[in-house]
Amino acid sequence: MKLIKFRSDCRVCNNKHINTILNLGVMPLAGNFVKKTDLNKKEIKVPLKLHYCKKCKLVQVKDSINPEILFSAYNYSSSPIPALNKHFISYAKDIKKKFKNKKNVKLLEFGCNDGILLKQFKTTKNIFCLGVEPSKNISKLARKKGIKIINEYFNKKNAIKILNKYDKFDLITGSNVFAHIDDIHSVVEASKILLKEKGNLIIEVHYLLDLIKLNQYDFFYHEHLNYYTIYSLKYLFNLYGFEIIKIENIKVHGGSIRVTLQKKGKKPIKYLKLLKMIKNEKNLNLNYFKKFEKKINKQKSDIIKILDELILRNKKIIGFGASGRGTTFLNFCKIKKKYINYIIDGSPLRAGKFMPGLKIPIKNLDYLKKNADNIDYVLIIAWNYKKSIIEQVKKINKKIKFIIPFPRPKII
Ligand SMILES: [Zn+2]
Repeated sequence: MKLIKFRSDCRVCNNKHINTILNLGVMPLAGNFVKKTDLNKKEIKVPLKLHYCKKCKLVQVKDSINPEILFSAYNYSSSPIPALNKHFISYAKDIKKKFKNKKNVKLLEFGCNDGILLKQFKTTKNIFCLGVEPSKNISKLARKKGIKIINEYFNKKNAIKILNKYDKFDLITGSNVFAHIDDIHSVVEASKILLKEKGNLIIEVHYLLDLIKLNQYDFFYHEHLNYYTIYSLKYLFNLYGFEIIKIENIKVHGGSIRVTLQKKGKKPIKYLKLLKMIKNEKNLNLNYFKKFEKKINKQKSDIIKILDELILRNKKIIGFGASGRGTTFLNFCKIKKKYINYIIDGSPLRAGKFMPGLKIPIKNLDYLKKNADNIDYVLIIAWNYKKSIIEQVKKINKKIKFIIPFPRPKII
């Protein structure tokens, strides 16, 4: 099985002249948490470089890891994350409201993960839900919740199969998956096949300008192939006859957007927010990304300085949040075991394993409860959930202080 699929052109517009804008070095796969029995085995490590296409304004990781390898032991389940649960409860409410007076509504979610959104519709009688999720591990979790799942990729081929069995849908949605897909054209084609003429497609995806604004290079990893601007989304959807009718800024994942689309009618609609956001993206150029690179390197030296000083004063530091983001952040900054002894994580899929690359042990919350007395600082690796992490830790030991690494490192 080939590990890497190399490509030379832009994933959205096939432009052959795309520029390298950032090189984060050779990185382990962000979600490959290491089992104890595999500690001495060689890990897969692949260069992590970002590229920018001037033609369609997409930032991308050009070469993609074979999804069979990348997602075979996919460990990211959303439901244990309180902030995400809150987000999807509110999203489900919006959907229920939209279809309140309609009978026999059909909803399809691609990349439905462990059913974090669809479980909200269990008692909603007028909405039929279907989830599509390629990961075996994670789709099992969704099935356990009683959700109808197709354990496949959402692409043109599978869309035709779904169409034959379930016909068309009123709403197709995908949250935090649009970044992960190499053949993104096939997802849009699949949506076109399965969406009713008056239906809506809604995607939630992180927004490139928000990522840059908050210095979120930790969101860059091999699983995330595409980093969208509004311009690049418009370009892509236009190819398949979709138009953007609404953009909402949402807080999840450190700044995302919820984009609502419809099939184009005879008259194109004029949407002011769309035009305004595209105008804001005019400044994107190589110089802009150079400045971003400088900011990243400054953050790296600042965080190491803070940790060095604390270690010199014999302070005991642990990490919190063994996320994919953490793999990029810790490996890029080389935050080794000498700085943080272990990392706490609420997901039972990760506790007991080790952080990719640096092999720092991951423990569950009970472990922290037993050992909280001798801890001075918690480095909040999953900093986009800092509020709930601080609350959890404060309940255990009020004296612990926190290091927040992004956008600029600070101690609170
Ligand atoms: Zn392009």
